[in-house]
Amino acid sequence: NAKNSGKNSYRFFDSYMEDDVNRKNDLADILSHVIDKNEIYLQYQPQVNVESGQVTGYEALMRIESELVGFISPAEFIPIAEETGIINILGEWALIEACNFNQVLIKSGFGPLRVSVNVSTTQLKDDHLIDIIKSIPEKTGMDLKHLEIEITESVLMNSFEHNLKLINQMKELGCSIALDDFGTGYSSFNYLTQIPIDTLKIDKSFIDGICSNEKDRCIADSIIDLAHKMDISVVAEGVEDNEQLQILQNQFCDTLQGYLFSKPLNSTDFIELLSKHKTLHD
Ligand code: C2E
Ligand code: MG
Ligand code: MG
Ligand code: MG
Repeated sequence: NAKNSGKNSYRFFDSYMEDDVNRKNDLADILSHVIDKNEIYLQYQPQVNVESGQVTGYEALMRIESELVGFISPAEFIPIAEETGIINILGEWALIEACNFNQVLIKSGFGPLRVSVNVSTTQLKDDHLIDIIKSIPEKTGMDLKHLEIEITESVLMNSFEHNLKLINQMKELGCSIALDDFGTGYSSFNYLTQIPIDTLKIDKSFIDGICSNEKDRCIADSIIDLAHKMDISVVAEGVEDNEQLQILQNQFCDTLQGYLFSKPLNSTDFIELLSKHKTLHD
């Protein structure tokens, strides 16, 4: 037992691990109560068409602010929610909340905008997911053609046949499918021919280097070309400056999402942005 070993370095390390485990347990506990306690909400980040500059859709991003520990970043809570399975409940909440919000926008004359919602691979293991998606039109009034489901390349790694079946069912219901963080994971081009993907989201890590690194620029260029040849639309993630925009424009990237146009916003600020009819080229 490291604790009784008498070596300070061990004890030091051990107590760090203990802190880690405690923090994880605390967060797991907090996560199981965020819906009841109203400590969960969504922010919305606009996606703009590169050519027209208009907002065409937006991504819903989960936020948690707990009275006990304050703001917790998705990078920290999503993996814990996945491990504990709580993501299934939070993910269902996010789907309904996002579609409710989008229906409000459509009814207010802002539409039709497309709302993109992240669905974790853990959620795909739950057969209930399809029933949840099926219930959206009745629950929220929104037509599923306005919903895009964002999945990551990890759906390709395990239970491919099962996941493919679910994704096809989502398509049949009218949803579109985006492949998120493209290029960072297990990218086999082979899968692109098997999964009915509507949108490819180029990961921020390539966009970061697009101005300074020739190879990153080549990768982005090739992804865009390949996608277009397959009739897939491309979103560049994490675009922060005009130099990047210039390059993406030259590469005929369709859509851009990033701080250059807007950070993720609370619902009221998002509605305000839409009301101003702000465009990328203003
Ligand atoms: P993601 O789906 O790839 O979302 C994009 C992330 O990039 C968001 O981080 C967004 O705030 C950030 N981002 C966008 N533009 C910029 C930019 O110009 N600069 C920088 N530095 N960052 C930018 P966020 O909100 O922290 O979310 C992180 C990840 O957590 C998401 O990555 C997604 O994988 C996961 N996530 C968030 N909400 C949900 C959810 O409702 N369900 C599931 N399953 N996962 C979610
Ligand atoms: Mg996403
Ligand atoms: Mg992404
Ligand atoms: Mg990401």
